[in-house]
This record gives sequence, C-alpha cells and structure tokens, in this order.
Amino acid sequence: MSELPEKDEGIYVHRSGIKVPYQWHAGEYATRFYTELKDKRIWGTKCPDCGKLFIPPKKSCPECFKQCYEWVELGDTGTLLTYTIVRYSEPLIQPREPPYAYGIIKLDGADTGVVHLLGEIDFDKIKVGMRVKAVFNENPEGNFLDIKYFKPVR
Ligand SMILES: [Zn+2]
Repeated sequence: MSELPEKDEGIYVHRSGIKVPYQWHAGEYATRFYTELKDKRIWGTKCPDCGKLFIPPKKSCPECFKQCYEWVELGDTGTLLTYTIVRYSEPLIQPREPPYAYGIIKLDGADTGVVHLLGEIDFDKIKVGMRVKAVFNENPEGNFLDIKYFKPVR
C-alpha cells in the first residue's frame, strides 16, 4: 500500500534520483592494493600475531589490533563462499543489467572473502564451494573492477 497520494487527488508526483559525486583519499594500503590490481596482481596483508591474511589488505588486524606490515601476493583462484542472482533492475545502483550473479570469494591462502561479480557462468550450475578464477579487464585502471569478474575453474 502506497503512502503517496493517488493521482486523482490532484497532486502530481515526479519520481527521480540524485547523483552525488564524491571522492576520498584511498590511503596507503588501498593505494598499493589498487596499484597492484592495475598490474593484474592481488595482494593482501598478514597479521604478525594471529597470521590471518586479509584481502582487501588491512593496516591493522581487527582481532589482535597489531599492525599488518607484511604484504603477501595471492593467486587468482579461490572458492565461492556464497552467492546471489540479481533478476530485477535498479539502474541507479547496479553495476550491470540483470540478470547477473555475484558472490563472496575466498582467494586461496586468504582468511577473508571479497564480494565480486561472477561471469562466464551458468546460473543453474553455481554452487557454494565451487572453484573460481579472477578475470582481469584488458585495460585496468587501478580499482576493484579491474577484476572484471570471477569465472568457474574448469
Ligand atoms: Zn591478528
């Protein structure tokens, strides 16, 4: 049930959205992470105390509060922890036209997962636990979408 007045009540309602451009300083760790992505390499940081490997890299461990100085290069393969399939359109916030799938991928060796798109994939064959591999854009720009998507490892 809508809370907006009905059209026959004499009030015209115009629906629209706003776009607010913004920028932020990525910081030392994210800058290195994005710079490495531009070279098609994925790096994380490791906690010196508990040994957890974070991707995206964290400057300090959220559990031990130790600073993570050690950088570790990860491969481009991992395991799909969970996923969803988007079947409706919401152009102001969605990265692409539906239907598409995205999920949380835990790269091999990492202790945290990253949210990313799934591509070259049959929606009926997506399974939690399946092996996936990063596919990089041909012309990376230094952001997280330099990884175009993760595809199934065949
Ligand atoms: Zn730790």
